[in-house]
Amino acid sequence: MPEGRTDLRTLFREHGLRCTRQREQIYTALAASTSHPTAEELHVAVKDADGGLSLATIYNTLDAFSERGLCRRLPAPNGSGPCRFDADVDHHAHIVLDDGRVLDLPHDLSRRIETEVPQTVLDEIERRLGVRIDRVSLQLSGRATRNT
Ligand SMILES: [Zn+2]
Repeated sequence: MPEGRTDLRTLFREHGLRCTRQREQIYTALAASTSHPTAEELHVAVKDADGGLSLATIYNTLDAFSERGLCRRLPAPNGSGPCRFDADVDHHAHIVLDDGRVLDLPHDLSRRIETEVPQTVLDEIERRLGVRIDRVSLQLSGRATRNT
């Protein structure tokens, strides 16, 4: 995870974005969060830290980050409602809990579950739908069984 202003400048430059104070604030808040926040939640987090950023600025900035590969936009967990954002752009799977939380699967488990989908099933999907599968990307649903 990038730390410090200089590294953020480099990170933004590598992704073709100018480093502005607003972008720094929003990226820092997103990167500090492990809860896959919505734009509204980030707005609250950034507002607490400084104040003055509009929700529209948050949305626009998150759009720019997503387009440039600085964050991932996750579909709304239950197919409706606001989408969530993830500063971890390495491929990993998520589990959506019934209380609305979105947790990361550890990367090793993401890899294991996604590589263990049987090739025969993938072949049949390709054949029956007339598609070519480039990557398996899973989202799990469930509920917490202990307080975390
Ligand atoms: Zn994630």
